Amino acid sequence: MLATHQLRAGYGSVAVLFDVDIAVGAGESIAIIGANGAGKSTLVRAICGLIPSMAGTIEKEGRPIQSLPPHARAEHGVAVVLEGRHLFGELSLESNLRIAETQGSKRRNARFDFSFEDVLDLFPFMRGRLGAPVGVFSGGEQQMVAIGRALLLKPDLLILDEPSTGLAPKVVREIVAVIQTLRQKGMSLLLIEQHIGVASECSDRAYVMSLGKIVKELDSTDWHDQSLLAEITQAYLG
Ligand code: ATP
Repeated sequence: MLATHQLRAGYGSVAVLFDVDIAVGAGESIAIIGANGAGKSTLVRAICGLIPSMAGTIEKEGRPIQSLPPHARAEHGVAVVLEGRHLFGELSLESNLRIAETQGSKRRNARFDFSFEDVLDLFPFMRGRLGAPVGVFSGGEQQMVAIGRALLLKPDLLILDEPSTGLAPKVVREIVAVIQTLRQKGMSLLLIEQHIGVASECSDRAYVMSLGKIVKELDSTDWHDQSLLAEITQAYLG
């Protein structure tokens, strides 16, 4: 579905990611974990085209996408929920969703064809709030709007950058339930998550990032081995 090969990226002329190789298979959910500043969000920005690649390749289903602008990557089925969510706070919930729906309508024959109604079914609280500006929503509600908006782009790969950060435990459970629903539907997911318990619950395997490099790959057995995860937390997550 998605693979990076020897990817190098950063800000201005300063590289932050070095020779990053990751792969997300069709229907797989992959986590990237690492301490603050490890480079996880930089990897997300490089994959979705918000920063240029300095070297290496990013392939979506075998096609290089590293030279494409962000909107073209979205048209290839890569959608992202960035940390901070980046919603149009003064616009209504419905407008935020309809803008994404219009963009998503450019994707023909999408494998996951989420409609406006499907998003409301996934997040029932939205039904009574369609006219409200999203700027007044709680952090958890905004995270759900950001996920709903990304789904309307009809992606087959959804990238979530720190979806649980700053949210109350009850809201985290709701987000986890939505992620599990998307996994059951067979959508590919790339999950950046500081909370290793949430990450492990929501993904099949993981990469550990430190100082801009992938320093460990955890297969599905490692990734659900609690004593190994305790060691990794100690060594890499501080
Ligand atoms: P966090 O969990 O804190 O978001 P992270 O693993 O996502 O951490 P990044 O945000 O990717 O880490 O940061 C990696 C490095 O890139 C850090 O040294 C950071 O200071 C630097 N960096 C991040 N954003 C920028 C930017 N816009 N301009 C310059 N340097 C940046």
